[in-house]
Amino acid sequence: MANIEGSCHCGTIKLRILGGFGENTRAIVCHCSVCATLAGSLFAYVAQVSRVNFQVLQGTTKAYKQPKSEGMSGQITRHFCGDCGTPLWAESEAMPDGISVKLAPFGNKLPPGAEIFWKNAHKWQKPMVVSEAVFDGMLIWEGGYQVGAVATSLMD
Ligand SMILES: [Zn+2]
Ligand SMILES: [Zn+2]
Repeated sequence: MANIEGSCHCGTIKLRILGGFGENTRAIVCHCSVCATLAGSLFAYVAQVSRVNFQVLQGTTKAYKQPKSEGMSGQITRHFCGDCGTPLWAESEAMPDGISVKLAPFGNKLPPGAEIFWKNAHKWQKPMVVSEAVFDGMLIWEGGYQVGAVATSLMD
């Protein structure tokens, strides 16, 4: 597959995913309160990519180390553009091989595959996916707990 490139709104940070997203990769909709706040929106729209395929072509992000909370199995660091504030990606010590990228900088082209932390959604929200793919919390998967694990399970 072709590489995919994306950038923050002001263009300071430019990113590339070598080989693009896998053909069957689906987006994860995360309704957790941290994602909602940091997206400035109802939810985060993300996908997991392999760290070795993830490149920063231009610019240096600001990194926010998310305070550790109960149940967090490793430090989560969230990268954003320090000039325009666009959230770009997150990485977790619990999943050193993966990067959770925000999809808006890449054009939001992936269809949704699962929604997590649905327990935080409001009564007036409706899921974008079938009910079997809506989860109240984050799924634990093979020791890692990042959203990519959910995406992987749905791909197979
Ligand atoms: Zn920017
Ligand atoms: Zn989240």
